[in-house]
Amino acid sequence: MPAITVCEIFASIQGESTHAGRPCVFVRLAGCNLRCAWCDTAYSYEEGNEMSIEGILDRVDPFGINLVELTGGEPLLQPDSPSLVGALCNAGYELLIETNGSQDIEHIDPRAKIIMDIKAPSSGMADRMFWPNLEFLKPDDEIKFVLATREDYEWASNLVRNEELAAICSILFSPVFGMLKPADLAAWILEDRLPVRLNLQLHKYIWPPEQRGV
Ligand code: SF4
Repeated sequence: MPAITVCEIFASIQGESTHAGRPCVFVRLAGCNLRCAWCDTAYSYEEGNEMSIEGILDRVDPFGINLVELTGGEPLLQPDSPSLVGALCNAGYELLIETNGSQDIEHIDPRAKIIMDIKAPSSGMADRMFWPNLEFLKPDDEIKFVLATREDYEWASNLVRNEELAAICSILFSPVFGMLKPADLAAWILEDRLPVRLNLQLHKYIWPPEQRGV
């Protein structure tokens, strides 16, 4: 019987991506294979309780919100994650999956919308990307770069241009909270006329930045 280790389930406002601002139920799965230098969810590496897929659906349903996001940690790491994705899609939810880019997305249910990180150098994890994923992204998926420095920005903007990433799907440039000023990143994007979307972590402006479950 499929079982998934879940760190937390809660309702909040979707804080990142083109869906930012929408009410959303977050299902945070436990465990991550990466260790980004600026990770803000280190508690998800170990913390979690095993739940059945039916148990997860029973927790999500009472919120009465149609948008659900699977996040982590890394939500595609657990062997039964694809079954959970299928079950949430079958139940009629609009499903977002926020993945760190290291896991193969080829066989993920195409009804789910993938928000895939490409890890920049300051994360320390840039060499962990599974680059063939670029072939499997759909037009309603999204690529997210989390950027901490000017060097990160230059690395990411070169990739956007050289690989013509904007032709694949929406590209999000997100400053690491407290490390890169949104105004600086906005100025660089404008100066370069880069075809990307400035992406702020909305929940960190609405609630205290360290608060969990939001
Ligand atoms: S992939 Fe996400 S959860 Fe994992 S270490 Fe990086 S920021 Fe943290």
